[in-house]
Amino acid sequence: MNEKATAEKIDEAIRLFRNAERIMTFTGAGISTESGLSDFRSPGGLWSRYRMVTYQEFLESAKGRREYWAMRRELIPELLRARPNKAHKALAELEKIGKMEAVITQNIDGLHQDAGSSRVLELHGTNRTASCLGCGRQWPIEPIQQQLEEGNLDPRCDSCAGLIKPDTVSFGQAMPQDVMAEAFSLAETCDLLLMIGSSLEVHPAASIPPAAHQYGARLIFINRTRTPLDHLADILFRESAGEILEAIVNGLQNDCA
Ligand SMILES: [Zn+2]
Repeated sequence: MNEKATAEKIDEAIRLFRNAERIMTFTGAGISTESGLSDFRSPGGLWSRYRMVTYQEFLESAKGRREYWAMRRELIPELLRARPNKAHKALAELEKIGKMEAVITQNIDGLHQDAGSSRVLELHGTNRTASCLGCGRQWPIEPIQQQLEEGNLDPRCDSCAGLIKPDTVSFGQAMPQDVMAEAFSLAETCDLLLMIGSSLEVHPAASIPPAAHQYGARLIFINRTRTPLDHLADILFRESAGEILEAIVNGLQNDCA
């Protein structure tokens, strides 16, 4: 339990940033709620209105694929409309001043890249593109969305007639092994990890902050609600990620001035 005043915690966080040489961030859905992206799991949210279609079902059943794409037809435009918020922008700013090596994210919205972060590891893939599962050909998501809107809920590759799927990781689908390996290697070598907006309940991604802790990194958590790993955090914020990060960036920029 951390009852210190916010200002005092911000000063403490700035000190950790000053003393750290290899800093990384781990983000979850919570960082994008200030960009107007709802929690799709909430009551009335997309995932309460659609059945979760597993990867296996997507591969094997045309009915499963139509259910999957019906949900995507609603989700894709919402994700494309979202814009980076203060928190995404502050992380890009930290990179510019040499205080952020990489952002590891569970999000598929592409907002870290939009804000200007250059090294973004997307553990659950991206909504921005789709690929043919047969020949690997890749498209931006927009022409696929166009097909969905025209009523084609089982889009196929024009080259090989293979199944097309967004480049996101579905339930039951393997995580990208190279991205996971790079993320854990970063965790093992960083000396400060910032965690923003994740409930830290979905593994193996949620094992990244404790891995950093185990290898000696300090941890700063910014999350509205409790997580099962709060006891590992050196500093714990419940406030808005945008506000806290802006204050940290300002403090560090004063150092440079
Ligand atoms: Zn193909």
